[in-house]
Amino acid sequence: MTTMQTDTRAPRAALLTLDGVRKVFGGVTALKGVSFDVGAREVVGLIGPNGSGKSTCVNVISGTMPPTAGEIRLGGTPIHGLPANRVVAQGLARTFQTTQMFEEFTALDSVLVGANLRYQGSVATNVLGLAGARADAQRVRGEALELLDFVGLGGRGDVRVSMLSVCEQRLLMVACALASRPAVLLMDEPAAGMVASERRVLSALIRRLPERDVSVMVIEHHMGLIMEVCQRIVVLNFGEKIAEGTPAEIRNNPAVIEAYLGHHGDAASH
Ligand code: ADP
Ligand code: MG
Repeated sequence: MTTMQTDTRAPRAALLTLDGVRKVFGGVTALKGVSFDVGAREVVGLIGPNGSGKSTCVNVISGTMPPTAGEIRLGGTPIHGLPANRVVAQGLARTFQTTQMFEEFTALDSVLVGANLRYQGSVATNVLGLAGARADAQRVRGEALELLDFVGLGGRGDVRVSMLSVCEQRLLMVACALASRPAVLLMDEPAAGMVASERRVLSALIRRLPERDVSVMVIEHHMGLIMEVCQRIVVLNFGEKIAEGTPAEIRNNPAVIEAYLGHHGDAASH
């Protein structure tokens, strides 16, 4: 088969680009020169059997660890090797597999933390002094409330994180990530541990993200969700990209089916 990899890279303006990214851990090469990109307002899935390099890919993109070789660019600017906080400043936010929020904060405060990262040292605070800072604070609060609404947590702003359901905490994590106004949102297994009804809520939310001018890269085990939300899917196996294409192309790709069949218990259903 020579037609398995659909090269859909050319026509889009790439927002996030991986170019020959390698990551070596001692004797293990977790990424063997991976290249793909994410375009503006696009939802791209990254899938692959256990151990295929998905988490490593997220970690090198988000600046948790530097790649051994290769380039990662965000809006044309190289970000490989930058520390995580600088990568966020360049416009990339992520959600985590496990909730990483302060349990005692309210939902609204949690979003404000994300938003304040953006407003620290803003023009208004520096040049206009206290009045400007107050106007900023009002605006940030308004935006945070609007974000809570957007993710489906309108009216839950005063509830402590510890009192929210696991599903609500996940939605909150999306609101927190969006508060930094990212160009690209990386979602690491957002549906882990969710039941079907919760996955439907999440799926609807992910599909509305492009409305906010954000591109999404989603790593997920749940194949149903991936097929539903993604315009394009990149498949890794043993650290290599083995396929890239639309959900329909990926679903029928023999190399992908074979990679998953080789990993019992990791397959495409549930
Ligand atoms: P996935 O997320 O697709 O399950 P990972 O990126 O976690 O895959 O792992 C890819 C490979 O890299 C595996 O062989 C894994 O054991 C190895 N690996 C991942 N992280 C580390 C690490 N910090 N140190 C050593 N090996 C690692
Ligand atoms: Mg992983």
